[in-house]
Amino acid sequence: MIKFLDLKKITDSFQPELDAAVQRVVQSGWYLLGEEATAFEKEYAAFVGAPYAVGVANGLDALRLIFKAYLELGRLKEGDEIIVPANTYIASMLAITDNKLKAVLGEPDIQSFNLDPFKVEEKITANTKGILLVHLYGQNGMHPEIARLVDKYNLLLIEDNAQAIGCRSGNFRTGAVGHAAGHSFYPGKNLGALGDAGAVTTSDSALAATIAALGNYGSRQKYVNEMQGLNSRLDEIQAAVLRVKLKRLDRDNARRQEIANYYLRHINHANVVLPQALSEHVWHLFVVRCTAREALQQHLEKMGIQTIIHYPIPPHKQRAYKEWNQDTFPITEKIHQEVLSLPISPVMTEEEINAVVQSVNMFSL
Ligand SMILES: *Cc1c(COP(=O)(O)O)cnc(C)c1O
Repeated sequence: MIKFLDLKKITDSFQPELDAAVQRVVQSGWYLLGEEATAFEKEYAAFVGAPYAVGVANGLDALRLIFKAYLELGRLKEGDEIIVPANTYIASMLAITDNKLKAVLGEPDIQSFNLDPFKVEEKITANTKGILLVHLYGQNGMHPEIARLVDKYNLLLIEDNAQAIGCRSGNFRTGAVGHAAGHSFYPGKNLGALGDAGAVTTSDSALAATIAALGNYGSRQKYVNEMQGLNSRLDEIQAAVLRVKLKRLDRDNARRQEIANYYLRHINHANVVLPQALSEHVWHLFVVRCTAREALQQHLEKMGIQTIIHYPIPPHKQRAYKEWNQDTFPITEKIHQEVLSLPISPVMTEEEINAVVQSVNMFSL
């Protein structure tokens, strides 16, 4: 069976360095707010090309804390509008609405799956204060039109870089393009921890300091609380794990690109629409479209190939957002009806890659 993502094999491929890193922390007797997290923050900031990185507990918290910090700093106020793509993982919306900001949904481009830059300006009102740009599936979502709008309307540009860790964006990397970015190190992401972990990157020193304090009970000095914060910290074991894995990230992403290019050259089926790299892409997911998606998934399952749908229900059709359930976003809904993610990961063998190609090509309706 070809697994969608063989996490055990990925973890094993980092041995024995990974075990050594974990043991180092276990034996140090120091598990939170220590040297490993500080070292990872420095290394990750340098990697992304951002002046500051702040480790937090997970990717959703990274995004939540960015908005919460902007509220604390007076850059945002309750009710301000943030434009976000309608087709994204729901965490993007949750970060906005959790802070009592208004999420304004924008349609994606069907080819890139990313926010359609030319449908953003029509969403801008006097209350629009920011854009949450999601680099979905690993593809850079930045576009000159987004830059123009950010400039013209003096907007905050916040990146959801959960899926595009290590991706290039022109002369930068995603995560260093906007004013602040949230990163997820959920185990299945391109840089995965052995549990939950996340980070914020930014060039804004006040924002970085506010986020670090907010993630630690709103405190900069022990038992002195300046703000009503939360507990969202990157622990020492995860930081040590991430330091080991970060060193191989560019190579791992290059391997993903090789596999994606192989798929793009060799998958050839009249009913399967291949994804397009219209910009830099680190292929967190390789997402095809098929109007007979369920049949294709069943066929691949029979051939021993595990696939996943990212995602089956759009956020505006979720019970959690009842207030949006009557809204229609045709492109978003079409994407949710048709997408299927094929296995892709740096540890796939040539035989597995070939089997995926052959099996997709053998699909008959
Ligand atoms: C994974 C993900 C998140 C949330 O990250 P967690 O670490 O799971 O909290 C946010 N946004 C997107 C687009 C994601 O894929």
